[in-house]
Amino acid sequence: MTSRKTILAANWKMNFLSEEAAQITEAILPDCRDSKRTEVWLAPQTLGIPAVSRVLDGAKNIRLGAQNCHWEKSGAFTGEISAPMLKEFGCTFAIVGHSERRWVFGESALTCATRAIGAVNEGLDVIFCVGETRDDREGGRTIEALREQLKPLFYESGVVEKVEQIIIAYEPVWAIGALTPAEPERIVDTHCEIADMFIKVGIKKVPPILYGGSVSTDNFAKILKLPGVAGSLIGRASWSAEGIRQLLEIAESIS
Ligand code: PEP
Repeated sequence: MTSRKTILAANWKMNFLSEEAAQITEAILPDCRDSKRTEVWLAPQTLGIPAVSRVLDGAKNIRLGAQNCHWEKSGAFTGEISAPMLKEFGCTFAIVGHSERRWVFGESALTCATRAIGAVNEGLDVIFCVGETRDDREGGRTIEALREQLKPLFYESGVVEKVEQIIIAYEPVWAIGALTPAEPERIVDTHCEIADMFIKVGIKKVPPILYGGSVSTDNFAKILKLPGVAGSLIGRASWSAEGIRQLLEIAESIS
């Protein structure tokens, strides 16, 4: 089991102009500096990355990343961004396979896996998101759906060697942007199933697994205390400096 710090990953999605993103970052810096157990991972919209990067300037306990990443370094891929381009502005991670990428933009499991391995090969850490839809859940197909999303990743060459750069985010699609997160026992069981999938393909070092989907200051402590939860990928609750500060305080209070 890894001894790394709790990950509080803020997915800002398509929100905030550069200046606003920089202001939020500036406001949380003192809290991050003092944090003992938690690392804040910020994922602003792509054009906000340089402004946030300037504010961070090597700050402690806080990392900068992107919301997606192409597998090639450069080329004819209109609308895409590559790992070297992200690294140029201080990014050290990318979120890949977020449900909005999979379900709104139609990215396949293979595309997501290819993105992930391309990014890790270029030295980025990857938060690889997986999650079942409401139909999967109601049809009793949750584990099957997660396996389908992870399978191409397992068969990408290099995954075993680079597994330390991978973080899984279990985000049930039905819980994202909703009112309530998944039930605690469901989170624990599903994290166990995901860990088992890695072990079954011979990857003994199971990546940290984050939970995401309607995490808020009301439920964060309870979720972080669950066995097998290494942190959270958080949308709405992270969309203000005060929100991040409160989440960070909660994470810091849990040993
Ligand atoms: C997300 O989009 O990754 C997410 C977890 O959103 P929210 O926290 O708003 O449900």
